[in-house]
Amino acid sequence: MAQIKTTEPDDEAQEILNTWRIIFEQKYSEELDRFALYEEDVFGFEVQWKYLKNTPLHSIFPNNPIKSLELGNQVIREQFQTRNSRTRPVIRIIGFDDEFSYLLEDVRTRDRGRLLSFNCIITNLDTPMGWLKRSQYVCNQCGSTWSVRQSLARERERSSHCSMCALTYYEEMKKTEGKAKIPPPNDVSMVVEANVYEDIQYLELTCPVMLAKNCDDETKNPLFHYLAVVNDEYVGTFSLNQEVTVNAWVELDHLPNRDFAMDTRRVFIFKVHSIESGFKE
Ligand SMILES: [Zn+2]
Repeated sequence: MAQIKTTEPDDEAQEILNTWRIIFEQKYSEELDRFALYEEDVFGFEVQWKYLKNTPLHSIFPNNPIKSLELGNQVIREQFQTRNSRTRPVIRIIGFDDEFSYLLEDVRTRDRGRLLSFNCIITNLDTPMGWLKRSQYVCNQCGSTWSVRQSLARERERSSHCSMCALTYYEEMKKTEGKAKIPPPNDVSMVVEANVYEDIQYLELTCPVMLAKNCDDETKNPLFHYLAVVNDEYVGTFSLNQEVTVNAWVELDHLPNRDFAMDTRRVFIFKVHSIESGFKE
């Protein structure tokens, strides 16, 4: 169950938090002062990869990018809060070096989960949409609330019981050998108004190397297009035929109009962390 629990950060988390604090204080304090005056709800705060390179994040980030970014986002929000800003910035790391560079045409299922950097041309843009990122639940017995993280394009995770009430319930049942007259801990409801949604947009990308080959190819082999998804402040900002460097996680998704249970075939989906205009050399 993907319930969010607040616990003391482990040693690695503590190291990640400290590293981000040092990076922001030493490299970005002027930008932080300036951007804290912005009034947008969400925006991407660009951080150069080179500033992570001589820090513990150089090795932690590639192995654990999601944890590194979640903790980094926590630090940057603290930085904004201390500047009395209610904006919710998200870190967008840019300027990844060659160890992340990859060609779209070379991507295979073995690359699943990797964060890689691709030169791409945008060949199609879908209508912006939203998805349920986190749903909120309340226990109708004890009143405690919790949220459940969802995954994009997967079945919605439901919460079936209250973990606070469950503790008491099982203790009582043990003590009374199952004879206690207390209700089971499953009187919970979703709080629809408190659900958190995120803006997203699907893009189609092609590989400039493939495009160049395709132009010279007399047999006219088809040009492949790959699906990518962007979120938050990137939604609605790109145009057709734009040349970009896409830094994204390689993931697998079900075929359109199928689901995971109906069909085992998968398509690649590039979950975009950051986009830079122009190609990387
Ligand atoms: Zn409860």
